[in-house]
Amino acid sequence: MQINENLVRSVVEEVIHRLRSNGSGSLPAAPAPAVRSYQGRLGLFTDVEEAVAAASEAFDRLSRCTIEERKRAIDHIRRIAVEQCVELGTMEMEETKIGRLPHKIEKLKTLGERSPGVEFMRSEVFSGDHGLTVIEHAPFGVIGAITPVTHSLPTLTGNAVSMLAAGNTVVFNPHPSGKRVAAEGVRRYNQAIYRELGLDNLICVITEPTLETANAIFRHRNIALLCVTGGPGVAKAALQQAKRAIVAGPGNPPVVVDETADLDRAARCIIQGGAYDNNLLCIGEKQVFAVESIFDELTAAMERAGAVRLNASEVEALTAKAVTTVGDGEGRHDVPAKDFIGQDAAVLARAAGRRIPDDVELIFGETTFEHPFVQIEQMMPFVPFVRCRNVDEAIEMARLSEHGFRHTAIIHSRDVVNMTKMGRALDTTIFVKNGPCMAGLGLGGEGYLSFSIAGPTGEGITTPLTFTRERRCAMIDSLRILGR
Ligand code: NAD
Repeated sequence: MQINENLVRSVVEEVIHRLRSNGSGSLPAAPAPAVRSYQGRLGLFTDVEEAVAAASEAFDRLSRCTIEERKRAIDHIRRIAVEQCVELGTMEMEETKIGRLPHKIEKLKTLGERSPGVEFMRSEVFSGDHGLTVIEHAPFGVIGAITPVTHSLPTLTGNAVSMLAAGNTVVFNPHPSGKRVAAEGVRRYNQAIYRELGLDNLICVITEPTLETANAIFRHRNIALLCVTGGPGVAKAALQQAKRAIVAGPGNPPVVVDETADLDRAARCIIQGGAYDNNLLCIGEKQVFAVESIFDELTAAMERAGAVRLNASEVEALTAKAVTTVGDGEGRHDVPAKDFIGQDAAVLARAAGRRIPDDVELIFGETTFEHPFVQIEQMMPFVPFVRCRNVDEAIEMARLSEHGFRHTAIIHSRDVVNMTKMGRALDTTIFVKNGPCMAGLGLGGEGYLSFSIAGPTGEGITTPLTFTRERRCAMIDSLRILGR
């Protein structure tokens, strides 16, 4: 039989601790322990104080582990996300009621497989006449993280892999509408890690998350760093905190199609990206600006590729139901109606007065630049198409519709001058040329993946290094082994 030494050690510590604390055991009396142990809670907490204390305790334990042990902990997260993606993805779909089931499943599997882990850790060296200096990347400690309803467990999974790889532990405040699947994922991840390594609470979650618990995490003295993934409200709140925040905020990704583009390819890509999980991706294609000379050809290509076109009155009927207004006075603005976010194209079409097959992935229609569907981040599989006089007008409209989020932009073109012009004008964190949006996250393009894309604070597509602080170790006049 194989004995897990770490687990045995941790269980023995716990027994000693309990015997000493209740005074009923036969162990010699010892001073009351200063810190209560949270081992065995599997990361589930209703109270922020307790969650942070448990994550701090877990951080102390993790700090004594090797990188190989960190990797073994992360491997459990990866394995569960991949092996149990159908069950957990279905749970997420049933709880959040937005998106498409195959994509819920695929996202979890993809995050499990491809989130950057310990292999991303590195050190830098300066070697010269005065010796050797090494820059190492150290953990912050306990991170406070906020996750969106659009990908509750996938975001948590990707964050956990990268944050743990860097040696941190984390307390999550998930979106209330995705809290159950978040808690179940955390429970399973911790249980597997605890069984093998005797480490619990590396990932903690607030099981009844509210704005109050989010604020308590923001302000907690033992939370060293924040990582917030969500829309404009939470991005603003995080940016106002007194501690460092990595903010992965909203987007409204525009697509430009010029006269040199491969139109069939462009249409397929717009459908693939814009329809994915019913357009819940923050990087997903949200509006298209196509030049006049190819506009009709492009829309015909969209229909050939399986999208359904709504006419002007159908677009207006949909808009009346799927767009609503919030705020007062000057702050009054359009937002997507909650009941339509992440719903199937067939549901949107019905609202527009049209019956289409359930397997249609995307609907689209021609609108003006001012149309609410162009201006808001709709998160629905209806994409507005705007006719532009030329590529310069298309790029300028794309820039304005992105509202300065500097998140994601896409062009379909064979003209590098147009590509360059758009890249410079939009200044986005992700700029995809001739592919669907997800190619910008290494899915069909090169590069790595994360579901926390930190635009406002500049870290970009997060990796373990994002969650580290630099430490410098300098040896003066020695250790450089090269002769003079
Ligand atoms: P949301 O802003 O409604 O909620 C996100 C999270 O923030 C939730 O956990 C919510 O409970 C919390 N929250 C909201 N307001 C808060 C406040 N004032 N203080 C503290 N916490 C607050 O967004 P959502 O609907 O869950 O997700 C969709 C949004 O997230 C879209 O805008 C999308 O673009 C964005 N997003 C961005 C990225 C990225 O990597 N940049 C990734 C995924 C989603």
